[in-house]
Order: sequence, then C-alpha cells, then structure tokens
Amino acid sequence: MTQPLTNMQMRDVEALLHPYTDAVALRQTGPLVIDRGKGVRVWDDQGREYIEGMAGLWCCGLGFSDEELIEAAREQLGRLPYYHIFGGRSHEPAVELAEKIKELLPVPMARVFYQSSGSEANESQIKLQWYYNNAIGRPGKKKIISRIRAYHGVTIVSGSLTGLPANHQDFDLPVDRIRHTSSPHYWKDAKDGESEAEFVARLKADLEALIEREGPDTIAAMIAEPVMGAGGVIPPPKGYFEAIQPVLDAHDIALISDEVITGFGRTGNWFGAETLGMRPRAFSMAKQLTGGYAPLSAVAFDGDMAEAIEANSGRIGTFGHGFTYGGHPMGCAVGIKALEIYQRRDILSNVRRIAPKLHALLDRAAQHPLVGEARHCGLMGGLELAPPGRKGFRVGGKVGPRLSAELLKHGVILRPIGDTLAVCPPMIIGEDDLEALFAPMEAALDATMHWAR
Ligand code: PLP
Repeated sequence: MTQPLTNMQMRDVEALLHPYTDAVALRQTGPLVIDRGKGVRVWDDQGREYIEGMAGLWCCGLGFSDEELIEAAREQLGRLPYYHIFGGRSHEPAVELAEKIKELLPVPMARVFYQSSGSEANESQIKLQWYYNNAIGRPGKKKIISRIRAYHGVTIVSGSLTGLPANHQDFDLPVDRIRHTSSPHYWKDAKDGESEAEFVARLKADLEALIEREGPDTIAAMIAEPVMGAGGVIPPPKGYFEAIQPVLDAHDIALISDEVITGFGRTGNWFGAETLGMRPRAFSMAKQLTGGYAPLSAVAFDGDMAEAIEANSGRIGTFGHGFTYGGHPMGCAVGIKALEIYQRRDILSNVRRIAPKLHALLDRAAQHPLVGEARHCGLMGGLELAPPGRKGFRVGGKVGPRLSAELLKHGVILRPIGDTLAVCPPMIIGEDDLEALFAPMEAALDATMHWAR
C-alpha cells in the first residue's frame, strides 16, 4: 500500500522532471523532500532525520552546515555577487582559487579553466584536446578513449564518454570520435579463473588492440576516473594504471584524470591520481571543490597544452569557449574556503584514519548471503548485491533500490546504482556516525533478501 501523496509531493510531480528517476513510479511514491541539514544529517519536510551516507551526490565532504563555507559565500555575495572572466576581465577569487588548485595538484599543471559542473568540465577537456591538436598541426588526432562503466557526465560529449547504457539509450549517444575500452571491474568482468594480474594484462592488451585498430595518430586522449564512481564504485585492479600509462605515453595519448568525485581528499590523498599511480596531463574537478555548496568545476592542463592553446588564440584572435558562470565569484570564494578548511582541519588525516573502519564495515556486510562483493578506496565504497554463486540477479537493477528503500526506513541514505549500493559519507564523519550508518545494514539486507526470493 502506498501512502497518499502530500501536498508538496503533488506539487513536485506536477512541476518537475527529476534526473535519474522513473517518472511513472514517482507519481505513485512521491519524492523524498529534504528540508534542512546539519553535520552529516538531513531532515525531510515531515521532520524525519536521516544520516547522509552519500554526502549528497558525493560532494558535501564537509557536511551540510559548515558555517565557514556559508560565511564565505555571504561575504562574497555582499562584495561582488557576479562578475565574469571573459574578454580580459578578472576578479581575485578566480585567480586565488586557481593558484591554490595548482599548488595542490600532484603533477605540475599550467592553467585552470572554470565551468559550473562536472559534465561541463569534461566537455571542456575534450574541446581543449581538439583545439590543442589543431593548434599544433595534428588535425587527425581527435578520438577519445573512455571505458565501459565510466561516468563522465551527461552533456553530448561527456555523456558519450560515459560508458553506461542508461546514459546513451534513446539519447542517440555516443557521438562519433569516442571509443570505449574494457571495464576494469575484476569481480564482474574477469574471466573464470583469471587472476587479477592476468586481468590487468588483458585490459592492457585490449587497449593496445583498440589503439592499433583505430590508428594511434587518430587518438588524442584517454579519460579515466581514478576510482569509477557512478558506474558502481569500482577501484581498478592492482597495477592497472601502471600497466596502461606506458601504452598511452608510447602513442602520445594524453591521460585525463576525472577527479570530480575523487578530488580533494576522498581517496586519502588530495587527488585520486596520487592514490592510483596515474600521470595525467589534465585534471577535471568539481563537487568537493566547493564542498557542494556552490556549483563550480575546473579543469587544469599542462604547460605544453597551455602554450599551444594560448598561441592559437593569438592567431585566431580569441579562445572561443567559456561559460557565463565559469569562475563565479561566490563559487570561487567558497572553493578557496573549502580548500583552506581541508588543510587547516586536516581532513585528509580524518579520511585516512576513518577509512579502515569503513572498509571493515563494508567487508563485514559482505558476509551477508545477498552481497557478492565489497569494494572500497579511501572514504568511498560499494556493496555488490548478488545471489549466492551468481554474478547478478535474473531481474537485474531492482535489488539495489530495494535495499536503499529498506535503509531509508531506518533513517539511512545510501544510493543504489543498479544492484550496487554506494557509500560515500561526508569526509568529516566520525566513528560513531559511521557505525550508525551501518547499524541497520544487516536487517535491511535480510528484508531485501526476503523480498528478492
Ligand atoms: N565526472 C564524474 C567522475 C562524476 O562522478 C560526475 C557526476 O557524478 C560527473 C563527471 C558529472 O558531473 P555533473 O553531474 O556535475 O555534471
């Protein structure tokens, strides 16, 4: 029996189209309307309390009520609520944040370019690769390699980079010039009896074969998340990036690290590229850049690219790309404050201290017969739901949402990605709240298993 919709829920379904939502089912259930937040908790409009195990959408690393971030936004709005950096204009927050980002990146980067979202960051990355290769007289080097199960956004090109069927189906994606190589998910994609090392060797061989087939001179870049996030929280198999980096280097194919989730401490280092042994020529950043309090994203790219792009703008007379809200002063002010807080409060140490606890809780949950695998890296993790002895349910994709709904009844918000349950709490979470997040897991798994029978 579904409850009758509240007035607010009725207004919602008449007014909104929700992302990543079955609009027909939503008419029956209505949305969960969140009203306020404090620390690692949020409350709905009926006053019910939830512990937020996803930091919103992987972004609220400092929780939902950080006074310093709020004050930074307020102060900037009072001083200069909007200005742009088009056509030779600038403002200090944009400059200061770019300097700070450059200081923190693990590989020297020359320039920062701003947008508002992760999708726009990756859209910019690909346009920059195309522009760069035109600028240096390599107009044929344009294809981009991504991976099956990757998530890089939803705009036309970033959505094409994404390697998930739901983002392509009925949107007429992917567009041309994008190629997907094998997914690095050992548990799901390895052949029976294949060791992790053999799996990595096969992924490397697949990449080499793809490059050979397409022609190395036609491929500009490969984009990769250090740890796949929205594809199911998939850390790569051991030695993966170490194996593929030389292949890319040999063919002058730039590696772009999509750090939209992994950036700013999530994996225990400032960037996932450090944790996973990548040597990128460009980075995409968003989400925890502002702790989720303002929409801001950034790309950073190396000196070779900067020099060629700037010289080409001189030849053409402009660099013809940019977004009205790219480098928004309030977003940049919040970003500066967020980075300062990560440093001053030593948030990375909290991630390193608390991550083993999260891993242990996930591993313990993996003892349940409904769980096939627990995965984790830093303060992000996933539980892969599967019936005993099988890699997937007969009717896939419904069991994760069911588990998430069971947990919600216990006041816990975790996100289903098909039949994976993702966990990505605010980086400020303490041990007690982490325990509280997992306290109803066993009961929720039992109820879900009962339902799935
Ligand atoms: N890249 C990665 C790795 C992401 O996880 C996401 C969003 O979750 C994006 C890009 C797209 O970001 P946005 O939703 O801000 O467009």
